Amino acid sequence: MVENKKIPELLVPAGNLKTLKYAVEYGADAVYIGGKKFNLRSLGNNFSVSELEEAAAYCHARKVKTYLTLNSIIFESEIPQLKDFLNEIKDIDFDGVIASDAAVIKLVKTYYKNPNIHISTQANVTNSIGVNMYKDLGAKRVNIAREIKFSDLKEIIKNTDIEIEVFVHGALCISHSGRCMLSKYMAGRDANKGECAHSCRWKYYLMEEERPNLFFNIVEDNKGTFIYNSRDLCLLSKLDLLIDAGVSALKIEGRMKTESYIAQTVWAYKKALEYIKNNEFDENKKDFLLKELNKCSHRNYTVGFMFLNNYKELEDNEGVGYIKNYRFTGVCNGISEKYNLPLILVKNQFKAGENIEILQPGKMPVEKRIKEITVIKNNNDFSSDTANPNDIVILKDIGKINPYSILRVKQ
Ligand code: SF4
Repeated sequence: MVENKKIPELLVPAGNLKTLKYAVEYGADAVYIGGKKFNLRSLGNNFSVSELEEAAAYCHARKVKTYLTLNSIIFESEIPQLKDFLNEIKDIDFDGVIASDAAVIKLVKTYYKNPNIHISTQANVTNSIGVNMYKDLGAKRVNIAREIKFSDLKEIIKNTDIEIEVFVHGALCISHSGRCMLSKYMAGRDANKGECAHSCRWKYYLMEEERPNLFFNIVEDNKGTFIYNSRDLCLLSKLDLLIDAGVSALKIEGRMKTESYIAQTVWAYKKALEYIKNNEFDENKKDFLLKELNKCSHRNYTVGFMFLNNYKELEDNEGVGYIKNYRFTGVCNGISEKYNLPLILVKNQFKAGENIEILQPGKMPVEKRIKEITVIKNNNDFSSDTANPNDIVILKDIGKINPYSILRVKQ
């Protein structure tokens, strides 16, 4: 019976305390975060030791799990630093540690009693023998490589009794995830140390060695060809299949993403899981939720290696770049005592006369026409036709809204 289906954990990224709070409010069952070292988002904000502590406490107070990401490659010279870092964080109550390097797997066990070790995508596990080898090393969960087929995923789950996690949404590498030296070669930034410059998405030309300044387009259309440029993964329409296969956790990529992206993505996946639980996840619901996901800034979506028959679609990106159908226009920034209404921090410009869509945790999006904008500046309130970035404004037309609301306007 569908009603008895076990709904997997929705695992959401957070690059800082602000996005973590949005992830939690919008329905994450677990969040993954990184410290200042040894995780693959070293250019993200990441968390200081005291922030890691605060994050775990915030999540636990709301019954949300917190996983620490420690998944970079460890060089011999870094072992003392790794030990120091583990020593600094050993009293923080994480629900799991995400690792790929054998040194981390081994050392974590000496600093934490019975740690829940989750094997990172960076370990590129593609079969059940690999999964069970990590089980023997003490792993509780393995994140399966994004490059496998769905038929292989089902076999892997049948052949192990530990938890299997899959990425369902976010950026894809054109190489096997993380096993890539392109960024280090092109920009001196090592993807295996969390410094990827996304060199695979740059524009490339062909040059013959005797003609150094003559660049030939590798043309597929008049915008040139981004030969390595992958689409974004989106498995929302396949969630029912993943659940039937017995997946334990559904992971969203993006520890560098904004609160708006996190809110909109988590909202859509949480809603999908609710529909599945209630046996209502039909084609109409899938279409509706995919339209919601289209409102976030994204590249063309793909169902990835797991469900594609023809991998050409992965790079079929028609003009490339991010698709921005909606403008992220604002977030709540407290309450005005004077107006008894939310103060809105403006992120991108909007004008009176535009329709603003408001997304709130656990509610359907609603649209309101903005007739009046009151700008609050140095205790001086004035009416304006335009709200500009970083303005604090009152929008009487939207009334009271959840403090984690996201405001957006169709482009
Ligand atoms: S350069 Fe592209 S393929 Fe390589 S690690 Fe970075 S995102 Fe992945």
